[in-house]
Amino acid sequence: MSATTTDPQIEIVNPADGRAVGTVPNVGRAEVERIVGDVRAAQPAWEALGAKGRSTWLAKFRDWLLDHADEIADVLQSETGKPRAEARIEAPMMADLINYYNSNGAKFLADEPVGAHGLMTIQKKMLKVFRPYPVVGIITPWNFPLVMPLIDGIPALMAGAAVLIKPSEVTPLTAQLIERGWTDIGAPPILRIVTGLGATGEAVVDAVDYVQFTGSTPTGRKIAQACAGQLKPYSLELGGKDPAIVLADADVDRAVNGVTWGGLMNSGQVCISVERVYVEAPIYDEFVAKLARKVGSLRQGADDRSFAHDVGALATTDQQTIVDGQVTSAIAAGARAVTGGKQGVTGTFYEPTVLVNVDHSMACMREETFGPTIPVMKVADEAEAIRLANDSPFGLSATVWTSDIKRGMAVARQIEAGAVNINDAFINLFEFGLPHGGWKDSGVGARLGGAQGVRKYCRVQSITAPRIPTLHAEPLWYPYSPTKM
Ligand code: NAD
Repeated sequence: MSATTTDPQIEIVNPADGRAVGTVPNVGRAEVERIVGDVRAAQPAWEALGAKGRSTWLAKFRDWLLDHADEIADVLQSETGKPRAEARIEAPMMADLINYYNSNGAKFLADEPVGAHGLMTIQKKMLKVFRPYPVVGIITPWNFPLVMPLIDGIPALMAGAAVLIKPSEVTPLTAQLIERGWTDIGAPPILRIVTGLGATGEAVVDAVDYVQFTGSTPTGRKIAQACAGQLKPYSLELGGKDPAIVLADADVDRAVNGVTWGGLMNSGQVCISVERVYVEAPIYDEFVAKLARKVGSLRQGADDRSFAHDVGALATTDQQTIVDGQVTSAIAAGARAVTGGKQGVTGTFYEPTVLVNVDHSMACMREETFGPTIPVMKVADEAEAIRLANDSPFGLSATVWTSDIKRGMAVARQIEAGAVNINDAFINLFEFGLPHGGWKDSGVGARLGGAQGVRKYCRVQSITAPRIPTLHAEPLWYPYSPTKM
């Protein structure tokens, strides 16, 4: 991908084979401002529909997504090199999200009565009211081209905001389908996609009223600085380096299968991928042998509609360079690949890899990899595993593998991360009622999910009024006197 800020178009390639699959406009600042003006003008009517009215349009959009799930998966595969199964799941997952907010949105956004807590307000009717930011900007990465824009876009639309999505320049073709679907169902013109490079994202940050960013920690820092200068609210979902802790009492086969999927799904390009594993000494040898066998048995390749592969390509050549650099430098420093460890022969493939003899001096244990690698370290006990798991600037999520759920719960409460799954991987992301968001360098601001996920797109307003129109008490009004104290 070689476009520069001044190029009018960006060419999109299939990373699995380097074929050009389309072009999109590299939208400039003036056009972003014009589009924001358009959606801003249309937003009050959208807000006035109320949660129930908006859910009618969201339901139509859900049906469009489901009717076009195969076409969406085709486009999504063409710009990511994902296996069919991983591409095909995105539309139904977003249909579930719409169902969740259609069922709960009105409740989450309802005015909240506030009871009186002192003599001054005893005769007041008081309300907490949730009113949307007029225009929400959503800036997204490439790893889930449909899910990333919509997982924030749907709750923002439910809140009553107009939404401007700036998808990754690596995967804008899937995002364009979102706007096509919204237009096809005849919905109000309050959802737009602007394609482009980082400069387009900067223009979005400047033009909207609230910024939701998902992407890398360095870009997140830049956006936080830009928002601070404008006193603009934002939330950031950033990178991770998620640990898996495998305790000696774990069901080893389940842990091996879970860590394999947790580490390699989407070629490891998931913010909450398993990126490092700590295994208690008594089961270390068995775990590594079984993990190497399992990972070595996976079918890697470029998929059509056949569901024939488990692991696909990496999304970009840059990503392939990062993964290869981490593996090569780890091996040079004494690590060993028990399976994998090399670039694929074509495209951006990288062999699913298990590394042992690793330690925290190596980039593969410290920096986000975002690739199909699973580095495994032997630990003496639970305490060492927890200490190493927390020895990271990131804190997105973690997994714990044990047959003792009580013990797993106790370990979870000592881990510095926004989510912990016991004996499972990724499962928290499939429950839309749970909050999702990172601690430390993995995120800042209001979380995704549940009531918070929709209320974050609202400005809260307090309204007071007399409970009985003619009954007033003004104990502190002028004139002051000692008897009022
Ligand atoms: P990135 O930060 O390079 O880009 C993300 C988006 O920001 C793109 O659309 C890009 O064009 C835009 N952008 C770049 N510079 C900008 C600027 N100065 N102002 C505004 N927008 C700008 O990230 P990426 O490489 O696309 O995605 C991978 C990263 O995303 C990984 O670090 C991963 O962990 C993270 N991620 C986090 C979550 C989460 O929920 N925490 C989810 C998915 C991905």
